[in-house]
Amino acid sequence: MPAAASSRKVVIPIVDIRDGLVIRAPAPVHGAAAAPASALHDRLGRPLRDLRISVTDHCNFRCTYCMPKDVFGRDYEFLPHAELLSFEEITRVARLLAGMGLEKIRITGGEPLLRRHVEKLIEMLAGIGNLDLTLTTNGSVLARKAADLRAAGLKRITVSLDSLDDQVFRAMNDVDFPVAKVLEGIDAAAAAGLSPVKVNMVVKRGVNDRDIIAMARRFKGSGHILRFIEYMDVGTTNGWRMDDVVPSAEIVRMIDDVFPIEPLQAHYSGEVAERWRYRDGSGEIGVISSVTQAFCHDCTRLRLSPEGKLFTCLFAGAGYDLRGLLRSDASDAEIAGRLTAIWQQRSDRYSEIRTAETVRTPKVEMSYIGG
Ligand code: SAM
Ligand code: SF4
Ligand code: SF4
Repeated sequence: MPAAASSRKVVIPIVDIRDGLVIRAPAPVHGAAAAPASALHDRLGRPLRDLRISVTDHCNFRCTYCMPKDVFGRDYEFLPHAELLSFEEITRVARLLAGMGLEKIRITGGEPLLRRHVEKLIEMLAGIGNLDLTLTTNGSVLARKAADLRAAGLKRITVSLDSLDDQVFRAMNDVDFPVAKVLEGIDAAAAAGLSPVKVNMVVKRGVNDRDIIAMARRFKGSGHILRFIEYMDVGTTNGWRMDDVVPSAEIVRMIDDVFPIEPLQAHYSGEVAERWRYRDGSGEIGVISSVTQAFCHDCTRLRLSPEGKLFTCLFAGAGYDLRGLLRSDASDAEIAGRLTAIWQQRSDRYSEIRTAETVRTPKVEMSYIGG
């Protein structure tokens, strides 16, 4: 039986920080409007460029590194629908941020394709204009949704796939979901023009690290970009241990031994993945070294939770409630002023200061805030 399927008791208790630990948003200076784009930097001088929008905390998978079944079981209380931000509220936030320098939006979750009529949200966000609009999915329902997503204005897509070995993959998603259906989704996305399709593989030592070369072989020359992600200590439920992390330098060496690769320039400052290309010209791969090589110094990402909390770091213990303001009679200028104040007071750099102690601090769950 693959390691991921063995029964394991998670000893770290879940800390539900969705209701508690809301940070009071810094008040904007009276009468101040949103900062002009050029002025909107955080305390460490980082601009606001990316917004990740988590549209649901529900998921039909129970990936063992993200939503372990012994925590996210039948009696787990997900957010009720009435608590979620409406598409109009999400679009309002995105539009205001677009006026402050936002360049890119990634829709995520939970499983974002489970949010009903998510295509409608994509259409509304695409209507803002001038934004790179993408989405991360587990691919389970992508084959039947890809064309509609593209028609709604989605530009690109990232599909998570941790192994080509059906037994390993079924054990990792822990709902017995087959590889073949995700591959169908990837094909459908490419056929719909959502290219280049990025394929995310979270690598966990002893679970799927032996599938690295098979994945590289499969996607080499396909036009898709395979990205290897270091297993991270997000949330408090996955029982993360440093020993389970396969450093991306090791992954690069493994691939280079079989398929020679060379480094590529980043597309832009703040790009999450380090890029490599096959020397024979058959495409590129990426490695995301969030554990072994922190990239906080140019982190330009803000995250919006399904019920309207803003998180300035993936590893934050608390968010700023925006829903109350959105549902008050606050004007656009007032909300923009609050957004500006939140970004300007940001000083997060968790991955740069990670220690054995910080690993145990309460953190937002990945399935709630998205990747
Ligand atoms: N459900 C969608 C999916 O899986 O693509 C979107 C949300 S998921 C939280 C976003 C990304 O985070 C996925 O690529 C997933 O593999 C990755 N992820 C989840 N938990 C992780 C962890 N502990 N370390 C590294 N990546 C993780
Ligand atoms: Fe897996 Fe994504 Fe669902 Fe987490 S949110 S369990 S990574 S499919
Ligand atoms: Fe950004 Fe926080 Fe990740 Fe650092 S740890 S790169 S600040 S999200």
